[in-house]
Amino acid sequence: MELKDLWLDIIKELSKEIQRANLITWFRNTSVLEIKEGVMTVGLPLPVFLNWHEEHYAKQTLKAAQAIQPEIKSLAYEVDTALGDRDPRVVDLAQYFPEKESRKLPNKAEVKINGEVVSKALNPNYTLESFMVAPENRLAHAAAMTVAKYPGENYNPLFVYGGVGLGKTHLIQATGREILKNDPKKVVVYVSAEAFTNELIEAIPSKSMDRFRNKYRKVDVMIIDDIQFIANKDRTQEEFFHTYNTLTESGKQVIISSDRPPHELTLLSERLVSRFESGMIVDVKMPDYETRVAILKNRCQQAQIFINDQVLEFIAFNIDTSVRALVGVLKQVIARYELENTAPTVRSVSEIIKQSKKEVKMMGYVPSDPTPHKAVTLERLTDLVSEYYSLPKSEVLSESRARECLIPRQVIMYLAKSKLHMPLVKIGEGMGNRNHTTVMHSISKMEIQLKNDRQLLCDVNAIAKEAGIH
Ligand code: ADP
Ligand code: MG
Repeated sequence: MELKDLWLDIIKELSKEIQRANLITWFRNTSVLEIKEGVMTVGLPLPVFLNWHEEHYAKQTLKAAQAIQPEIKSLAYEVDTALGDRDPRVVDLAQYFPEKESRKLPNKAEVKINGEVVSKALNPNYTLESFMVAPENRLAHAAAMTVAKYPGENYNPLFVYGGVGLGKTHLIQATGREILKNDPKKVVVYVSAEAFTNELIEAIPSKSMDRFRNKYRKVDVMIIDDIQFIANKDRTQEEFFHTYNTLTESGKQVIISSDRPPHELTLLSERLVSRFESGMIVDVKMPDYETRVAILKNRCQQAQIFINDQVLEFIAFNIDTSVRALVGVLKQVIARYELENTAPTVRSVSEIIKQSKKEVKMMGYVPSDPTPHKAVTLERLTDLVSEYYSLPKSEVLSESRARECLIPRQVIMYLAKSKLHMPLVKIGEGMGNRNHTTVMHSISKMEIQLKNDRQLLCDVNAIAKEAGIH
């Protein structure tokens, strides 16, 4: 059996347990390099994959491999930066694990009933799986799951309220999406209260009220977002009230979001408020720190970008006003990352946070301003690298040939030479009395790797920036 076919079979086996998004992120451009004396060596394209695979996938991978080839006894990993999309050794995951077509839902673009368009597409990113459950929104999530399973039954209407950017739209759309997933024939309509109002206003003079009414009264699930918008609009309330009654009386599900609970919607007619109160009322609040970190990690995985835990934790720690603000900062961080080829550090991120919200008080440790060029010494460089890779200095300077020590060590030597212009002999002395030929060898290895390994390049740039020698 060819190694490539074997690897494909193993990945297929793993795909039963690993979510597609994770599979694509972490198994892309991997390959079996060799099998020798019972040891299967798996090639990984980036050093950052190493820890992740060892911690998360090693056991499963070995098990899957043994199921296919029992003579495999153990696993070894090796970083091979030459592994890339065009490398003939790697399996094209996108080909074998295409995006599921179950998303071909009736409302993929827009739903048509009687030739009329009634619903804008639901945002494909808003799913129940991607909604992170924190203690603060557990009830809301559970209620959404129940409604998704039994639409039109017990929780009708489902009323979700909470402040701006806390996940209301995400959750109610996800519920609609899940209902469609369970039964693609259902007609699910999502509309903001504002759009509903505008459509009504357009329908009145053109005498197309019947059409407007039919449109909303024929659906299985109506999702109306930001209901507070119609609070002071009597005519819209009147129309909505009738739509609501028609739907609920025939066992159809209504899902509503609002910026406050029903009884605080003072300008809403009492009969509507009392209808809402007869349903399931749940709130969403700002998730706790751990969930915020989980949200950020999940986003990075979706974007297939690796960002240091320390950096993500820093963002999560400092952004506690809304999830929208939280993911907004992350989006900026990623954009800058891609634009400048520089991996984000706590300092660069703290600048983005400061800019995006001037009044934010920064918490946690932010490194002081970059040291001016002159002051950068080999020792300072070693400190920075050790901090960056979360690796004790003693290990950075040790004799260990393990990849996680080797790379940081080579980064120091490379920067000392290329940015500080230190003589090789001096670098060798400062790095635990290494021979200058060793230093030279390490530097030239680093130079080759930097050409092929974008992550490494980003890391090196980030460290140089941190040191003020960029
Ligand atoms: P709202 O409608 O309450 O103003 P949104 O639903 O638009 O807020 O959410 C704002 C952003 O935050 C969206 O990108 C959404 O995906 C994200 N978000 C909110 N809550 C969560 C959560 N619990 N897990 C994952 N993402 C979330
Ligand atoms: Mg919203």
